[in-house]
Amino acid sequence: MNRERTLVLVKPGAVQRELIGEIITRFERKGIKIVGLKMLQMTEELINEHYAHLRDQPFFTDLKRSMMATPVVAIALEGYDIVKRVRTLTGATNPREAAPGTIRGDYSVSIRNNVVHASGTIEEALDELQRFFTEDEMFTYRRLNVMDYADE
Ligand code: UDP
Ligand code: MG
Repeated sequence: MNRERTLVLVKPGAVQRELIGEIITRFERKGIKIVGLKMLQMTEELINEHYAHLRDQPFFTDLKRSMMATPVVAIALEGYDIVKRVRTLTGATNPREAAPGTIRGDYSVSIRNNVVHASGTIEEALDELQRFFTEDEMFTYRRLNVMDYADE
């Protein structure tokens, strides 16, 4: 078990549907620790880096437009095996295939607007966190009821 950090983005489709609170609540209710939180407008440059692996895909232009439609909310989460656990909570890329109970499974039917981004691997998470947060925008702190949190 490794103590890690990962990045979640509340995508514009979810911001437009007023789901920011719902999504943050999913992680809080599960007991996952939030160590960074901010709203920002994604730029073309940032999207080119963030979705570099999709640059040659036919849907890239549409994806770009949808990712810039409103600001996004970036969330840094911390805990043991958090990258994998957050991907599990997020669900499959295609919301039609995402299991009920996952964020994508519960809130979306559209692959373009699949509500959230979550880092796919530990390496991706390290890269992405650096891209979206400065060191002093992520925090180290302890929660109350520490005994309840296996993550601490
Ligand atoms: N995407 C899309 N059409 C596709 C595949 C992906 O619009 O056919 C979008 C979708 O929003 C997805 C994002 O591109 O979340 C990044 O794709 P990736 O394969 O990295 O999936 P993820 O890691 O988000 O599950
Ligand atoms: Mg991905």
